[in-house]
Amino acid sequence: MASDPESKGTVVINPENNVNNNHPYSDLNLQLIGGVWREGRTGRSMTVSDPFTQQTLLEIALANKDDLNEAYAKAKAAQPGWAAMGPSTRAKVLLRAAQIFDDRHDELVEWIISESGSTRIKAEIEWASAKAITLEAASFPSRVHGRIVESDVPDKENRVYRRPLGVVGVISPWNFPFHLTQRSLAPALALGNAVVVKPASDTPVTGGLLLARIFEEAGLPEGVLSVVVGAGSEIGDDFVLHPAPSFISFTGSTPIGQNIARQAGSGDYLKHVALELGGNNPFVVLADADLKQAVHAAVVGKFLHQGQICMAINRIIVEEPIYDSFVSLFIQRVSNLVIGDPKNPATSVGPVINRKQFAGLVDKVEQAKADGATLAYAGESAGLVFAPHVFTEVTSDMELAYEEIFGPISGIMRARDADHALELANATRFGLSAAVFSGDIERGVQFARRIHSGMAHVNDMPVADAPNVPFGGEKNSGLGRFNGDWAIDEFTTTQWVSVQRQPRHYPF
Ligand code: NAD
Repeated sequence: MASDPESKGTVVINPENNVNNNHPYSDLNLQLIGGVWREGRTGRSMTVSDPFTQQTLLEIALANKDDLNEAYAKAKAAQPGWAAMGPSTRAKVLLRAAQIFDDRHDELVEWIISESGSTRIKAEIEWASAKAITLEAASFPSRVHGRIVESDVPDKENRVYRRPLGVVGVISPWNFPFHLTQRSLAPALALGNAVVVKPASDTPVTGGLLLARIFEEAGLPEGVLSVVVGAGSEIGDDFVLHPAPSFISFTGSTPIGQNIARQAGSGDYLKHVALELGGNNPFVVLADADLKQAVHAAVVGKFLHQGQICMAINRIIVEEPIYDSFVSLFIQRVSNLVIGDPKNPATSVGPVINRKQFAGLVDKVEQAKADGATLAYAGESAGLVFAPHVFTEVTSDMELAYEEIFGPISGIMRARDADHALELANATRFGLSAAVFSGDIERGVQFARRIHSGMAHVNDMPVADAPNVPFGGEKNSGLGRFNGDWAIDEFTTTQWVSVQRQPRHYPF
């Protein structure tokens, strides 16, 4: 056991599992429930497999409601002690975690590739993003500030304190599981909260179990973090309705997010929620754009991680004068993409996550044809590798335009002029990210500001995230903002404490 003499609290480090230990993590079929690594108690198990090879990676015994109760009870008990530890103690745990990311880089990247079918390129991006938010979060304990606010009442002092929310429940999706769990987990922990994570069923290891191992190795006190792997149908409702968490951070699809918002308002206790939901992101190319660069950005912004990214391009909107040249250059680039084995460093498009997603994409292609879009390019699919497809002459009334695609199918729309392009860009119930290409930067900025989205990028792709900028959506893309100062607001609550220094004169 090692203690940290400068801090108010004591960080317990397991000596057999310190940062210099390079043995790969083992027993990842166990979950961390209330400080104990053990099996879930439903008596049923779930197979985790590699989407490309279809090989079984693990069998995990699923958790039930009792397991969830235990995780929440332990989190509630452990949270005050963790919050009472000084800012430098909490920061050190986060910094150690970031160091472990480096020490175990290859092991973590291999897991991201094999569990979520990520190409090596995407897995490296995900590893780097998760590490970056960990480092950013390490600064949060010393960035939480209260305020003294003036009062009209004589001899009164208004103090505004910021404090942790208490217990936070984190639900994450399968597409960027390692980063998207850590995007909530690291800030929540840094700010003195205890956390229970429910990863997606396709990605329990990268979406939670690896992070639990990392934080344990980094010295996080027992019980502050649990990772509960269970079926949404078995523990999903209780996860949200349980009285212990005062905040649910959900990243996933819009329909499930809407349901969680309803639940957060309907239990015995109202809860704060952060909802990071689906997107339908426009990529606008104005006639004065650098065509080659726009095509390059469109290819990466559409096909990175097989298009399974909330910020991925959903609609490519091109102004009439350059429409035909854009389409021919885009198809030329798409037809040269290396598709297949995600372990091959040259591969740009690997497998989609599971058979259900694959079948949904087959349906989308058929629907696009039936809706009257022109199939201008289709590669050859194999296994769960869904080859890139390009549709042209897509219009707003087609499913390809109004629904989130979440796969390597692209639809290109024709805009009469810049005003029409803006109208098309805003013709959606979603509002996550957007991009506009223009040769005139200020014109691009003015265009971007008129798009109803939480994020918009000029002369770049809509797939963008950084630990210190606000991430989040408008409309059906969600509520709340993550990263930087915005995460500090999100993962703390405010309390006004007033002090009356001299007896006050009351009106009666
Ligand atoms: P999903 O909504 O199906 O699942 C997300 C998570 O919710 C999983 O952990 C799942 O097990 C859990 N869940 C399912 N039913 C539940 C219930 N009734 N109660 C509680 N939890 C439940 O989403 P997905 O298919 O994993 O991810 C893809 C979606 O996520 C896409 O729409 C994508 O745009 C969105 N997404 C958004 C962001 C963002 O930051 N805005 C990031 C990544 C993905």
